[in-house]
Amino acid sequence: MTRVDRQSWDVVVVGAGGAGLRAAIEAREQGLRCAVICKSLFGKAHTVMAEGGIAACMGNVNANDNWQVHFRDTLRGGKFLNDWRMAELLAREAPDRVWELETWGAVFDRTPDGRISQRNFGGHEYPRLAHVGDRTGLELIRTLQQKVVALQQEDFRRHGDHEARLKVFQECTVTRVLRDRDGVSGASRVSGVFGYERESGRFLVLEAPAVVLATGGIGKSFKVTSNSWEYTGDGHALALLAGARLVNMEFVQFHPTGMVWPPSVKGILVTESVRGDGGVLRNSDGKRFMFDYVPDVFKEKYAETEDEADGWYTDPEHHRRPPELLPRDEVARAINSEVKAGRGSPHGGVFLDVSTRMPADVIRRKLPSMHHQFKELADVDITAEAMEVGPTCHYVMGGVEVDPDTAAAVGVPGLFAAGEVAGGLHGSNRLGGNSLSDLLVFGRRAGLYAARYAAGLIAAERPAVSDADVASAEAEALRPFGAEESTGGAAENPYALHQELQQSMNDLVGIIRKAPEMEEALRRLSGLRARARRAGVEGHRQFNPGWHLALDLRNMLLVSECVARAALERTESRGGHTRDDHPGMDRRWRKARLVCRLADDSTEPAAEDPALGRIRLERQEPPAMRPDLLELFEKDELKKYLTDEELTR
Ligand code: FAD
Repeated sequence: MTRVDRQSWDVVVVGAGGAGLRAAIEAREQGLRCAVICKSLFGKAHTVMAEGGIAACMGNVNANDNWQVHFRDTLRGGKFLNDWRMAELLAREAPDRVWELETWGAVFDRTPDGRISQRNFGGHEYPRLAHVGDRTGLELIRTLQQKVVALQQEDFRRHGDHEARLKVFQECTVTRVLRDRDGVSGASRVSGVFGYERESGRFLVLEAPAVVLATGGIGKSFKVTSNSWEYTGDGHALALLAGARLVNMEFVQFHPTGMVWPPSVKGILVTESVRGDGGVLRNSDGKRFMFDYVPDVFKEKYAETEDEADGWYTDPEHHRRPPELLPRDEVARAINSEVKAGRGSPHGGVFLDVSTRMPADVIRRKLPSMHHQFKELADVDITAEAMEVGPTCHYVMGGVEVDPDTAAAVGVPGLFAAGEVAGGLHGSNRLGGNSLSDLLVFGRRAGLYAARYAAGLIAAERPAVSDADVASAEAEALRPFGAEESTGGAAENPYALHQELQQSMNDLVGIIRKAPEMEEALRRLSGLRARARRAGVEGHRQFNPGWHLALDLRNMLLVSECVARAALERTESRGGHTRDDHPGMDRRWRKARLVCRLADDSTEPAAEDPALGRIRLERQEPPAMRPDLLELFEKDELKKYLTDEELTR
């Protein structure tokens, strides 16, 4: 066995984005010793890229806003498949989390009378997104990092060591959540994590009774994506391998507006704030086509003419919303249809225009990053010409099945999940801005309950990490180095496997889905899994990006299989899941959540039956919504979503 550094902590948080940092701060504030471990540099998590803002019903710009309206919007956006308790907690607690950020030093944009400014976003009835220009995520992370440093300084004063109670391990990848058997009940529970330092390749084990997964999403399994290299579904896969289950994996959000050109930047996000602040979508005929795509369920709320839509920006009380601000799934499908009908832009998207809608200095002030992004990457001046945009894989609604109040992963004591890696909150489609509030609300809850769980175990009960488990995790991590020899020189190139996987998911399980294509995707995934077991790398563990790619493959293949299997099973279209062969939303399907679990969690799974793969699906009926929450909706609206039996009840 190679040398493995071992350390003991109370709570380990995997991920240093918004959810991970908020969880770590909470665990440390509860008095526990907390380690944070992250794949990239500290401060470079995905949250940094968030542009538009944090949804919280503070009512600063429109006093009619309150948690009930935010709850209603979230359920409508998710087409009633949301875990209603999570949606309630999000709506109730988000304002406190934003105000708390401000007390920790966040500098938000202000209203003329000095309150935190809030902007419009798709699917939100009132201006609700607290923001910092179009760099909100950066400010969020900067503030949380500053809080971490403040706590470390406090620890230095008390213990003489900055890292005594809160330590960050940056550029380290976790490859396994470790478990042991509880001596009394015999049940399996979390005992720590195994991982490696990306630069040196050295292995490390962090022992801890509680582990919070805050690893973000899965977008790198698709070719065109707004997500960065980190989003390889690690937390989703780690949870599955530790015995947890994933829910709603068929729901993948394709953001309507990613850059389409030049090819090297295809998929990079164009924030929804562009539309929230007045930008409009046009096809190659110059037509504002979104008026043709307002679905029946949203007809009452959206404008029918350009005059009415434009009037909404200055007088929202007396005008209905512009259809450009429909939920993302609707806008993405509309753009897709326009391009397919031959009315697209020269590079296969549509036009998003702010240049004719706002003065140049306002564009530069309100959308500085977008102005910079287009100028630098595409040589387009958005104050003078329209942007070309098209759908890009952006966010996964599916994730670890958790208890809504405690963020504890169902069925795995000691495991918690928060942020994009957790499932349930957003139902079939997330509203913009609801992710950043999700990170703060459920990051805090995960840290709190992980700390309580860890504190509840007296020292003698602490789970132990066995040498055998460490040896097995190590062997799994080292396998790519032996592939050349074990395959007699027929090792596979991990980079090529990544590309094939991404192309297959993009083409066959993308924005519009059909049964034969998803069946083909599952066949290809089976072949790729077999080839991934032969993925080989040369050289050593130091500075070896090929090795990192090889290790990511296991996770990407697992989550891709979850997406494809669940998408094939759900024979309706809802939110981020559109079936060409089942175009309508079916009320009976609202009563089914698809849950994925692993068939075999060994590091060396037996030769698989390609038809069955590694993932098993179960249908689960979600709990009925509390009557006081149901009463927030008109019966006519509920009829669109609930079955007759539910309505009678
Ligand atoms: P992240 O911020 O991605 O952090 C994940 C962390 O996990 C990272 O530190 C990573 O290094 C670490 N990690 C991953 N795997 C491992 C591993 N195996 N071992 C160790 N560490 C690991 N949402 C909004 O609400 N409003 C917006 O305006 C908005 N704009 C967006 C703009 C863009 C361009 C994108 C891509 C997303 C946007 N979103 C927005 C979505 C939102 O930013 C993300 O959903 C959210 O930041 C996810 O946060 P997180 O804490 O769950 O994960």
